[in-house]
Amino acid sequence: MPASLNTEDFSDLIDANARYAESFGMAGFDGIANAGVAIVTCMDSRIDPLGLLGLKPGDAKIFRNPGGRVTPSALEAIVLGVHLLNVDRVLIIPHTKCAMGKMSEEELRKAVGDSAGQDASWQGFHVVADQIDALRQDVAALRTHPLIADRAKIGGFRYDVDTGLLTQHF
Ligand SMILES: [Zn+2]
Repeated sequence: MPASLNTEDFSDLIDANARYAESFGMAGFDGIANAGVAIVTCMDSRIDPLGLLGLKPGDAKIFRNPGGRVTPSALEAIVLGVHLLNVDRVLIIPHTKCAMGKMSEEELRKAVGDSAGQDASWQGFHVVADQIDALRQDVAALRTHPLIADRAKIGGFRYDVDTGLLTQHF
């Protein structure tokens, strides 16, 4: 075991993983999206992407980032999803009370800088000035993408973290 490997830091989670593996039922599953669904959403811990759509592990490809934006990495994931992983519907799901939509980049840098006790002005954050307009742009980016447009239905939604409900905007 390498000297730098500190298993104590993660012991509670590793113990939980051992219990998880005892009843693991997905051996041999090839990793496609069984329900044909891909989801782009925020990293926010209030969001259970599978649960809120009535799905279960194996059903969907999920791409998350701060804000739930269609970034170049998200596009890469969706292209792979629609061509190789059975995806034919894509939901883009930002959410209410998202930090990326509530604060300016300057405010986020200050908050992180205060937490770090050092300058964070060099760190970029992809803030969302107008969440619905950003969603409109992200939906359009997928609907016009030459490798995605003809292969999948694209929907733009917002998730309400206080009610658990989705509202479709596009
Ligand atoms: Zn968020």
